[in-house]
Amino acid sequence: MDIKKLQKIVGEKMVITDRERMQTYLVDETVVGVRPDPAANVVLVKPGTSQEVSEILKLANQDRTPVFVRGGGTGLCGGSIPTRDGLLISMERFNRVIEMDTDNLMITVEAGVTLADILKAADAAGLIFPPHPGDEGAQAGGMVALNAGGTRAVKYG
Ligand SMILES: Cc1cc2nc3c(=O)[nH]c(=O)nc-3n(C[C@H](O)[C@H](O)[C@H](O)COP(=O)(O)OP(=O)(O)OC[C@H]3O[C@@H](n4cnc5c(N)ncnc54)[C@H](O)[C@@H]3O)c2cc1C
Repeated sequence: MDIKKLQKIVGEKMVITDRERMQTYLVDETVVGVRPDPAANVVLVKPGTSQEVSEILKLANQDRTPVFVRGGGTGLCGGSIPTRDGLLISMERFNRVIEMDTDNLMITVEAGVTLADILKAADAAGLIFPPHPGDEGAQAGGMVALNAGGTRAVKYG
């Protein structure tokens, strides 16, 4: 992977190659002992727009670089851990609540919006957001990818 090309897409600061600076991105909440080890050569990239994501994926596709997506890192099955040398895309900058449509009981958010922020937005509108998979640092994209539910499903389905 050509790091310079990557930096051109997202800016130098949003490409991290220093292992020390990405340690917290290389684990999730999977129980130690079961949790997979991260690969040795990982590049962490933090895009801010879907156009940037598209360009990153095109670049990765050119040389078949493996790509891993990271949400809040609260998963319990190691899904966000980059287990092969490649790119780790953090969705943390996709953190905008776009619309709270109270007429249709619908919220539109970017993929990196956390459960905590969704709960806050719902509360401010006098509504509740029933899914609650334990850790409010989970992001919308991660919850969708894992079909996360939580104990409130007992009451709300
Ligand atoms: C204390 C605790 C309690 C929990 N309780 C429950 C529970 O009761 N019920 C339940 O269902 N789950 C539960 N969970 C697990 C829950 O499903 C996950 O924590 C949550 O869904 C993961 O979201 P995340 O953003 O942290 O994703 P991550 O852990 O970052 O990623 C999880 C997977 O989603 C993918 N992913 C993340 N973001 C995106 C995106 N934007 N686009 C595409 N793929 C993406 C990753 O590649 C990875 O494969 C619990 C977890 C914790 C820590």
